[in-house]
Parts: sequence; C-alpha cells; structure tokens
Amino acid sequence: MTNLLHRSIHASLPVAVRGEGIHLFDATGKAYIDASGGAAVSCLGHAHPEVLAALHAQLDRIAYAHTGFFTTEAAEELADRLVADAPQGLDHVYLVSGGSEAVEAALKMARQYFVEKGEPQRRHIIARRQSYHGNTLGALATGGNEWRRSQFKPLLIETHHIDPCYAYRHQMPEESDEAYAARAAGELEAKILELGTDQVIAFVAETVVGATAGAVPPVADYLKRIRAICDRYGVLLILDEVMCGMGRTGTLHACEQDGVSPDLMTIAKGLGGGYQPVGAVLLSKRIFDAFAQGSGFFQHGHTYMGHPMAAAAGLAVQTILKRDDLLGNVRDMGNHLETCLVERLGNHHHVGDIRGRGLFRGVELVKDRATKKPFDAGLKLNARIKKEAMTRGLMVYPMGGTIDGQNGDHVLLAPPFIIVKNDVEKIVEKLADAIEAAISSI
Ligand code: PLP
Repeated sequence: MTNLLHRSIHASLPVAVRGEGIHLFDATGKAYIDASGGAAVSCLGHAHPEVLAALHAQLDRIAYAHTGFFTTEAAEELADRLVADAPQGLDHVYLVSGGSEAVEAALKMARQYFVEKGEPQRRHIIARRQSYHGNTLGALATGGNEWRRSQFKPLLIETHHIDPCYAYRHQMPEESDEAYAARAAGELEAKILELGTDQVIAFVAETVVGATAGAVPPVADYLKRIRAICDRYGVLLILDEVMCGMGRTGTLHACEQDGVSPDLMTIAKGLGGGYQPVGAVLLSKRIFDAFAQGSGFFQHGHTYMGHPMAAAAGLAVQTILKRDDLLGNVRDMGNHLETCLVERLGNHHHVGDIRGRGLFRGVELVKDRATKKPFDAGLKLNARIKKEAMTRGLMVYPMGGTIDGQNGDHVLLAPPFIIVKNDVEKIVEKLADAIEAAISSI
C-alpha cells in the first residue's frame, strides 16, 4: 500500500524507473510506448541528453533565486525566446510552474487590466462547457467539466459557459462550416449581451480542446468570429494552449492555424517537455502597458515562478525543437497517424469520430454510429481501454463523456515529436487491439 494520495487511491500502478526516447520502463523491465506524452507533455521524449546536460549546467550555476530579488539569465533568455516566436502582438511573458498557475495568472491579469483602465465593473468570465483549464479553484471554475467541478461548486467563482465548437455532435447535417462557425460563435455575443456589454472581462477557450474532449479543433472561421466579437465589446480573448500549444498541432501555437492572436495565452506542458514543471502566460503590450502606466505592479506571484531550473529546461527543449525542425516531423507524423487511424479504425462499428491536428489526435467511441449514442458511462469504457493499452505496453489518455454525459468516451493520442513512422503504426495497432479487448469485456 502506498503512502501517496494520488488521483486514484486504489489503483496499483507500475513503478516507472527509466525513460528513453518514446519509451518508459517499469521496475520489471516492461517497456511502454508513451503515445500520450504523459498528458501531452513529453515532446522531446525521455532522457534527451542535451536537455539533461543543460539542466546539470544550470544546477551548477544557480538552482534558485527569488523573483522578488533577482532575475536570472535562464528566465530572461526563455522570455526572449518565447516573445520572438509568439503570436502577433504578444510581447511579454509571465513565467510560472504549470498550466493551472498560468490560467490563474491570466484570469487575474485580465481582471487587473480593467481595474487599471478604470473599468472595475467588469467582473464576468465566459468559457465553454467542453473545456478543462486546470484544477485550482479559478481554473476549475473556468472549465466546463462537471465531473471535475461538481463537488467543489460552493467554492467556485461565478463563471458562465457557452457551447463548444464541436462539429461531430453540434453541427447540423446540412449546415456549412461557415454557418456553424457563425452559430457557435454567436453564442458568445448573446452571452455578452445578456451579461451587459461593459460587464465582461474575458472569454477563455482552448484553441484545440484536449483533456475533456479528445483533440477537438474549431471549424474554420470560428476563432476569427470569436476574436471579432471580443473586439466589438472590449472583451479580452484568453486562449489556453497549455495542452495543444508549443508545437503539438504542427505549428508552435495552435492558433496560428486559425489566423488569430489572443490578448493572453497560457502555455505549459510541451514548454518544458516534462523535464521541469514550467508554464507561462504570454500577454499583449496593451495589457503590459496598462500595468506599467498604472499601479506598476501585477498583484500576484508564486515562490517558484521564473525558477531557473524550469527556465533552463524550457529553453533547452525549445532550442532543440527549433534546431531539429521537429515541427516538420509533427506535421508529417501527424498526417501519418491520421491516415493509420482512419485505415485501421475508420470503419469500426464503435468509432464515431477521428479528429485533431498534428500529433494531437482523438478517437471518439460510441455505442451506435448512426445515432452517435455513447456507451453507458457506468461501463467506464475509457478506463477499460487504458487498462488494456497498458497491458499491451501502450500509454494513451482516455476520458469519459463530459458534456452532461452527451459525448462519448474518447482516447487522446499525443506522442513525442521525435516519433518515426514505424512507431506510429505500432501505436495504432496496439490501440486498435486495446479498443477491441475493452469493448469485448463489456
Ligand atoms: N489547461 C489545459 C488546456 C490543460 O489541458 C491543463 C492540464 O491538463 C491545464 C490547463 C492545467 O495544467 P496543470 O495540470 O499543469 O496545472
């Protein structure tokens, strides 16, 4: 019995002792293909020698310096790198230790921005039902995942949720992408009008929805329409790219593919590739200037923000990503992964949808393809798939239906960017076997 209070008290988990490339090994020597990058974290794979060397070198220089007293070379260099490659208009960085911290900081930055500007009446956050933004209270309130939120509701700030852009389930049969984008984005405008045009702080969305939905990208034009609506009412657009960002979809930032820049963007996971806990908020000049010309101070902070070890990890990972053109491999292998998934699972009775971008792909499972009816949630199909996959030496990231039980179980794939063709094929074979075995066990 373990002394750890981890997510699942009763699960007896294998002990990970070693990682190498796209594999993790447990204490018995069994190898697992890391086809989910943990939770879409591991982008360079495990034990990359250059990242390890950069971390050792940083540890020899300085392990920690509080940001209230000092800045460090590692933090400054990482900030410069992030700004150089940021979406248009984002030119400042706030470094934290992970995704939830980044989301909390972005929410507070957005609120303080309006206080600095003399619009303190703005108090509402709007987000989407199908979303996960982290487990700290502000981030949890922002997310729309009822399973994670329900027992904590009395502690959550009031937030407002609209429908996601989820073509597989919400686009009507004869509806064009343009018409669906207009309808889905129109919900934001309606919500702003309902709450009051000078009352809303920000709209928060994952560019490509990850954990709650299995790599659901927006249809063309949706985010452009969202951007225009935010601009019309002076509402800030916060894109949460903690999971889908930093190259995962084939461009450094997922929103590049939608032709949109947010006012604030959160990143984490792939930023440090799992070598250290690190996250960041990228913010626009107009927000930075409001602070600089106002109170001169962002009322926030954490002991470990801007940690030099975390910054060194982020810098090493991002340097290698660029030097080795790994985004090119994400696009090529992402296309191959999609082709293999469609060939192997596209006609499967219980596969409703295969979707995603780059090396961020989702498979949604349904009881009935014609009606899109999901499996009964009590069957816990997603947990069965995870167990069967682990038995076969495959790590995937499955979740259950999360919009009021209306969507099906799904499996998220997010392998490291260094993956090669042969491994992509192995992943799809093992996944197909695991799905078959899980469904037969019901
Ligand atoms: N935002 C998104 C989109 C996420 O997927 C996650 C984690 O899965 C978070 C925020 C929270 O990140 P963390 O678990 O590092 O706190």
